[in-house]
Amino acid sequence: MFELYERGYTSLFEQLVACLLSIRTFDEISLPTAMALFAQARTPEAISRLTVAQIDNLIRASTFHERKAEQIHQIAQRAVTEYGGQLPCDRDVLLSFAGVGPKCANLALGVACGEPFISVDIHVHRVTNRWGYVVAPTPERTLAALETELPKEYWIEINRLLVPFGKHICTGHQPRCSTCPVLEMCRQVGVTAHR
Ligand code: SF4
Repeated sequence: MFELYERGYTSLFEQLVACLLSIRTFDEISLPTAMALFAQARTPEAISRLTVAQIDNLIRASTFHERKAEQIHQIAQRAVTEYGGQLPCDRDVLLSFAGVGPKCANLALGVACGEPFISVDIHVHRVTNRWGYVVAPTPERTLAALETELPKEYWIEINRLLVPFGKHICTGHQPRCSTCPVLEMCRQVGVTAHR
């Protein structure tokens, strides 16, 4: 989503759709899939004119593409009929769409609207708990703990920094602690084996 934003896909609608496409899907797939869809249609009005089958065909590489095609079509239609063709920067509105949970709502609002919301996925959850920065059993509890601990200026950035960090360095299985740049500051909570 941050990369899409840098490539000019900056609207809340585009960011929300991109987040939906990324659910349970590798980054290497999510980014080109979003761009393939946006090459055909990138506004709520344009996407609402596509059929669900056409959307499905464009996003076929994404996991759960059939369900996501319906959800994207519904979001586009509601954006047109209820919000004049442009999604409002309103968390409750985003959460009212099928398929959109707190992670995508917060991240899209953070990236597209600059609104201070923390998006906690499994990587942000794992890394901040291993650091010992928070102690929380679930991503939802980690979010609440970070909202207390983390200065607001880092609320959007933490996701952009820790998702790739969690994918490539502080991995779920055998994190790369021996070459980790923050080893000296990390309490390595729960790490029993590492590379
Ligand atoms: S030292 Fe290990 S556990 Fe701590 S952040 Fe780095 S990779 Fe993760």
